Amino acid sequence: MIQALSTVMRGCQHVTECMRPANRVWLWAAFGGSGVGVSEAAGGESVAPVSFDAYVIAEGGWSDSTRRLGFAKSVEIFKPVFGLVANLRYNPDDLKERNMRSQIHFVLSPDWPLSNCPIQAEFVEYLKGETHFFALVVSKKNHHKDQTDDYLEKMDPESRAAIPDEVIEHMRMASQQKGLLEMGVFRKGYASGQACLATDNVDMERLHQMVRDITQELGLPPTTEFFETNPVQLFDFSRRARCVDPVRVLCSAATSPAPSGPKVLSPAEFLAGGNGGVQALVLPVGDALQEPIWTQGLGINRGFHTAMNQAYACLLARETRTGDPLIAAVRESCAVHEAVWKMKWGEGHSGLAGSGSGYIGLKPFKEWDTQPRNRLPIR
Ligand SMILES: Cc1cc2nc3c(=O)[nH]c(=O)nc-3n(C[C@H](O)[C@H](O)[C@H](O)COP(=O)(O)OP(=O)(O)OC[C@H]3O[C@@H](n4cnc5c(N)ncnc54)[C@H](O)[C@@H]3O)c2cc1C
Repeated sequence: MIQALSTVMRGCQHVTECMRPANRVWLWAAFGGSGVGVSEAAGGESVAPVSFDAYVIAEGGWSDSTRRLGFAKSVEIFKPVFGLVANLRYNPDDLKERNMRSQIHFVLSPDWPLSNCPIQAEFVEYLKGETHFFALVVSKKNHHKDQTDDYLEKMDPESRAAIPDEVIEHMRMASQQKGLLEMGVFRKGYASGQACLATDNVDMERLHQMVRDITQELGLPPTTEFFETNPVQLFDFSRRARCVDPVRVLCSAATSPAPSGPKVLSPAEFLAGGNGGVQALVLPVGDALQEPIWTQGLGINRGFHTAMNQAYACLLARETRTGDPLIAAVRESCAVHEAVWKMKWGEGHSGLAGSGSGYIGLKPFKEWDTQPRNRLPIR
């Protein structure tokens, strides 16, 4: 989504210097370690040399370039849960399908729609667009024990009699639901999400049947076909990663202050000084910089903020007149990354998925521009 910002931001004096053949070699040497020139890169295809002074990486959470350029990632591990996404073909000629409306449900809300399909889910989202799109967060295994009887036994007979049967049924529901393991979608319940999702551990027939049960409960006819692109996807949702440093600096081979080969420097290494050669910034944005929990609905929102923050660092690299502009840019990027990390994004008012971020110090929208202090709580 942030791809438009990706790859090249022009403007500094470094641009012309990077055009030199020697720097083309450096560019690829720094990226892939292969030492080949830009014009011979990418599997022998001829690629035109690209001048740049900042390389903005918007490759999403699986970013290959952040890995290859040595960005260390800090990874948080959560209880094993999985994201389930399904797309079914939308037939506007079918009256039932045409009447379907986008909707979102949380397990604790009174209108939780899944009672026949016993899958234990926290959240169901249905979006009607080009396809019928369904997204859920589902458990690997149900760990809930039924404590309803214990609870009821402790009550006096009058209070006990006053509880409607539906409420008691609802109290029992959590223990009666099933995780992917009990549903037979996972053949074995391995500790790691990756092992659970291994091809030979997933029963595709059961997975598709379960998705059918879910979509029918939400109102879709049983005849609706799966869409050809991304019909059903199940992915590990128990980890999220963020770059420890938001910026690294590419330095070409140098003869002064001391002879050195091409380097990719962390902020600390760069700020320690003594680096020569042509220098350029590498700045991840969006999920490549900091992954969200997608049910919190903040991924692209925070992604736009991080893109603007890094654009502001580029601006400092171009416009700073006192001192070294790259030092100013690196310091700014690091300070803002730390501030964004400390904000309680997506924890919402209710604590439930999708309930937004609540008040986390964001400035009024009308004041927003690329300057991070006009958007975020940063001094
Ligand atoms: C099921 C689901 C539901 C979500 N719901 C919401 C929601 O309601 N609200 C919300 O704000 N967020 C939501 N998110 C999160 C949101 O989608 C992401 O935070 C957001 O898309 C991140 O944007 P991005 O541009 O950083 O990365 P991406 O959208 O992942 O885009 C990265 C792009 O770069 C491409 N790419 C990767 N490597 C290369 C390369 N080497 N060269 C060229 N291209 C490359 C990828 O193919 C991809 O197209 C959801 C996520 C999922 C999975």
